[in-house]
Amino acid sequence: MDHQPFETWLVSEEPLTPEQQSSLQAHLQDCPRCQNLERTWNQVETLLGERPVVQPAIGFTLDPAIRDGEKLACYGSERDGLTMRRLEGNRFEVKLASPLPPGRFRLSCTIPAGNGRFRWFGAPFYVPAR
Ligand SMILES: [Zn+2]
Repeated sequence: MDHQPFETWLVSEEPLTPEQQSSLQAHLQDCPRCQNLERTWNQVETLLGERPVVQPAIGFTLDPAIRDGEKLACYGSERDGLTMRRLEGNRFEVKLASPLPPGRFRLSCTIPAGNGRFRWFGAPFYVPAR
């Protein structure tokens, strides 16, 4: 049995058209696998919704071979209020000023690597809609 596009629709944040909705319901009638996905995904969303929204603090350590950690720069997608501090040695911490709103967020950090090149670190975050 082909489970696409039903698996995609079950975990999508995009609203389904009435035709997609009835097609999905018809598939779910006969598909234990997609029924299980729907049940499990609903449990995940419920659990995520019950957790307190926290201010992310992201920590990482630069390779000890990198000597110019003061040139590290971090920034976030479509967001202000990001602060970075050096804890000790090549250990760094990045904090956001407020909880992330629902949707996607990407933290990016760069440091010059010489010859006009950059080392790059990226971390994606996802906050489900409430
Ligand atoms: Zn299925």
